[in-house]
Amino acid sequence: MTKAYLTPVPVIVATTSIDDTTFEIQATPELQAYVLDFMCGDIYNKNLAAGWWDQADNPLVVPTKLMLIVSEIAEAMEGHRKSLKDDKLPDEDMLGVELADVLIRVFDLCGFLGIDVGTLLLKKAAFNANRADHKPENRAATNGKKY
Ligand SMILES: [Mg+2]
Repeated sequence: MTKAYLTPVPVIVATTSIDDTTFEIQATPELQAYVLDFMCGDIYNKNLAAGWWDQADNPLVVPTKLMLIVSEIAEAMEGHRKSLKDDKLPDEDMLGVELADVLIRVFDLCGFLGIDVGTLLLKKAAFNANRADHKPENRAATNGKKY
């Protein structure tokens, strides 16, 4: 069930569409952050064109978008709880499709707010890597975080 992603810097092999030149790119953390930051802008722009932000002047637009993220998480939980297939992509499990919806909503909101969430993800992961309360021995201690 759980996949381990142990390759520290995966290599992406790409081919240009112009002259079929093959090249390799190292998917460094900085490139991964850039891709996420790019996706925020790309998804936001597409959703803007689709009318998702027609009421952007409403002072409750950000809280509303946050609750829409929560609703996608609730849909993912329901899909997992009942082992459902997705109703729009029936070959896929509802859990995965709804988690994709979560990302779409998160990237969309970050794009609207100008939040570079990929860059922040790198910073937060680095911070979390050294947190005392995240170390196994401290989690196992009295009053430690069990999950
Ligand atoms: Mg959904």
